[in-house]
Amino acid sequence: MDNLSNIGVIKDLLTRYGFTFSKSLGQNFLVNPSVCPRMAELGGAAPGVGVIEIGAGIGVLTAELSKRAEKVVCIEIDRRLLPILDETLAGCSNVKIVNADVLQVDLQALIREEFPGMPVVVCANLPYYITSPILMALLEQRLPIDAITVMVQREAAQRLCAEPGTREVGAISIAIRYYSLPKVLFQVSRGSFMPAPDVDSSVIRLDIPRQPLVDASAPAFFKVVRAAFSMRRKTLSNCLASGLGISKTDAVQLLGQAGIPASARAEQLTLKQFTDIANLV
Ligand code: SAM
Repeated sequence: MDNLSNIGVIKDLLTRYGFTFSKSLGQNFLVNPSVCPRMAELGGAAPGVGVIEIGAGIGVLTAELSKRAEKVVCIEIDRRLLPILDETLAGCSNVKIVNADVLQVDLQALIREEFPGMPVVVCANLPYYITSPILMALLEQRLPIDAITVMVQREAAQRLCAEPGTREVGAISIAIRYYSLPKVLFQVSRGSFMPAPDVDSSVIRLDIPRQPLVDASAPAFFKVVRAAFSMRRKTLSNCLASGLGISKTDAVQLLGQAGIPASARAEQLTLKQFTDIANLV
């Protein structure tokens, strides 16, 4: 069905199916016609490419992905949307809807079965209440995917894509960079959604190289990152001492071995410095 971002068409659909938005499922549907084609293009939907979408809504992004990609598998938790999607995506023979919670799906198996031999990307307007858990689940499983392009709240985008050494950086920014190269693609205003959320949004893309970006084991690296950001106003040595369960003297010595001053703060560290500490722990 065309015009899926036309407010009249959406209202008519929702009324006919008696659908009401669920706030707890993060249901803010896109109604700005320029956003989905742009997301699909920049997300890498192209001939020969398999796309995983999370949260179909009424299928406005799904339809744009379907036009460009080889195949689209969309995971949607809300079964009330299934009959609507049957109607709106009737002409999209390369789309499969899986009615499930994305955090419960075996994505390795799904990729193996649905996209054999194909490059795969993720493209989605994420439900904001679980942005970080979804992104970390996608990254930690080391899925054979090339990129993740997602709409997130603008503040979350700034944190997720923050450069190490800047004020915006937090544990999640460093965690994202362990697995991927993040960048903000474009901004989307709150008026582009129905119902309009209280905040603006951004589309970000995480490119996932085949080779590891960080030369430290994930458990050691994440233990250090969690400890380093555990107390925002404390120095790194205090955070490491309490987070790693070592004495302050040992923490200062550890930092000295990595060539980092004891007075440093977590947000000042480079990725390489987190890596060095992880390899010394
Ligand atoms: N893609 C549509 C659009 O852009 O208009 C809908 C996006 S809306 C922000 C998020 C969608 O994710 C909703 O359709 C919601 O039902 C679905 N959703 C929420 N939690 C989910 C979960 N855990 N697993 C899969 N889908 C989920």
